[in-house]
Amino acid sequence: MKLATKLIHGGPTVDMQTGALGVPIYQISTYRQTSVDHFSKYDYARGDNPTREALEDTIAVLEGGSRCLAFASGMAAISTTLMIFSPGDHLVVCDDVYGGAYRVLSTIFSRMGIKSTFVDATDLTAIEAAILPETKGIYLETPSNPLLKVTDLRGAAAIARRHGIITLVDNTFMTPYLQRPLELDCDIVLHSGTKFINGHSDVLCGFAVVKDKELGQRIRYIQNAFGTGLGPQDSFLTLRGVKTLKVRMDQSQQNTLKIVEWLKAHERVTAVHYPGLPEHPGHVIHSAQADGPGAVFSFELDSYETTKRLLEGSHLAAFAVSLGGVESIISYPAKMSHASVPKEVRERKGIKDTLVRLSVGLEDPDDLIADLQQAMG
Ligand SMILES: *Cc1c(COP(=O)(O)O)cnc(C)c1O
Repeated sequence: MKLATKLIHGGPTVDMQTGALGVPIYQISTYRQTSVDHFSKYDYARGDNPTREALEDTIAVLEGGSRCLAFASGMAAISTTLMIFSPGDHLVVCDDVYGGAYRVLSTIFSRMGIKSTFVDATDLTAIEAAILPETKGIYLETPSNPLLKVTDLRGAAAIARRHGIITLVDNTFMTPYLQRPLELDCDIVLHSGTKFINGHSDVLCGFAVVKDKELGQRIRYIQNAFGTGLGPQDSFLTLRGVKTLKVRMDQSQQNTLKIVEWLKAHERVTAVHYPGLPEHPGHVIHSAQADGPGAVFSFELDSYETTKRLLEGSHLAAFAVSLGGVESIISYPAKMSHASVPKEVRERKGIKDTLVRLSVGLEDPDDLIADLQQAMG
């Protein structure tokens, strides 16, 4: 089955009770039991909920995993999954990891004795050099946020195998439509489903997907213990959203290519970071591990004044955090996704005060270009 078909038919498509063409919202917290000796599969909704399960089964199929767990947000998925590690363990993490992941690693997990070393993961030798005897995992994001730096996932997974450790990949920017890290021998795929997977800027959700059943069971144990699972209403909305993932991604990506070409020629734009461009340093590796460059990119402007004018003056692209919706979103990494990263760390990572990120939606690209033009002046 091709992915477009899996989006519609990959998970449970019919409610067994009624034949309804979709799994309904089981807005119920507890279930009546009939036997004192054997409780049925469903007993309490922190553990299992049929609507959440339908969504989990769908995403597992899309990523080629044996198990998916759905969480109340991307950060709930990331934090819960990181709880598989123990005090004394060490992680190697890409240095432009999502700001929220940087925050939990550097201020919470570090306090619990799980240390991280942040490295430039475009360089496989830097990843391997950072591995210590106590290292248990490599945590990656590719293309990364907001500079769209590319990590060779097959190469990183091979390093992990050699050292007997696991690879975790935040696949939010690509979605399983464009990139499937489990097929590249990575162990855990993480998502903020809030972005392209749901796609309509109306739900917070997250996923962890694995091939290994035992690993899935460990994450599932923590999900139930912590109560970080996704609620039924949001599971339903995300199930509806994901059905159109392919058509949304195809159109947004096509729009992105047109806007990127236009920006490249603009006199106020000094750099464009997009793995779809042949001159992007990660272009070749990205093309070998993903089926497209996606619909998020960043660019640098000639001054802070132009940056401010663009952010405050664009009407179609909303000046907001987040990405991956049907509407275009323009954001300012220095004060949004990376606000929790100290300024000197941020600048060392190349996230300047003139850097803007654009997530391209489904508007007509000509209208978006006209809007960006009037805002930049
Ligand atoms: C948004 C995002 C997250 C966090 O997800 P939430 O759903 O906001 O908790 C994690 N990783 C990436 C790459 C993101 O863009």
